[in-house]
Amino acid sequence: CGIVGYIGENDAKEILLKGLERLEYRGYDSAGIAIRNGEGITVFKEKGRIADLRDAVSDDVKGSTGIGHTRWATHGKPNKVNAHPHQNASDRFTIVHNGVIENYHHIQRDYLAGVEMESDTDTEVIVQLIGKFVDEGMTTKEAFSKTLTLLKGSYAIALLDAEEEQTIFVAKNKSPLLVGLGDGFNVVASDAIAMLQITDQFVELMDKEVVIVRKEGVEISTLEGEEVTREPFTAELDM
Ligand code: GLU
Repeated sequence: CGIVGYIGENDAKEILLKGLERLEYRGYDSAGIAIRNGEGITVFKEKGRIADLRDAVSDDVKGSTGIGHTRWATHGKPNKVNAHPHQNASDRFTIVHNGVIENYHHIQRDYLAGVEMESDTDTEVIVQLIGKFVDEGMTTKEAFSKTLTLLKGSYAIALLDAEEEQTIFVAKNKSPLLVGLGDGFNVVASDAIAMLQITDQFVELMDKEVVIVRKEGVEISTLEGEEVTREPFTAELDM
């Protein structure tokens, strides 16, 4: 039900956990975060409260890039396995997703016949598909874009690639998602309130744009590959 992401120089896990706490009021049944930790990506997830997730997150994980999620289950029981983030078969790609992939069965049947699914979620097909396209020779950006063209339904997604250190891949369709701009960092949030304590400058995203968030900047393009420039707006707290 909520998404956060951070890329910068500070400890990502604390920023992500705080962001998820600010989204708690929206309701959720489980939560998780993924942190870039040295060479790899470390995932923590729990059924239940953010406080439980916080307890499960180990202090030794110190990365300055990460994504986080609160889940409101639509496909698959609310349990730890189905909680996000989800990873592809090789664990290279890690995703969080809000929304519903209506054609996930078709994607599984048509593209992922040989791939063993770990969860019962509709979400997992997204990350498995990206992994498959990359295995077949595409760049991550190409695989990400190609996957977006195949998805039917609603999504806000944030993706980490273990082999592309300073990048979060982001997209949305009929689900809310914003990019926030900071000095020496950038963030992703399904609602500005999650990140308002560190920035009030946000960029609106349009459906099906391919968005690449780095520490130094944000690159937005259309699915057809055309570059998009969009000015940020100032978010205000209205609660
Ligand atoms: N459909 C996904 C799931 O059930 C995402 C749910 C959500 O938006 O939290 O895991």
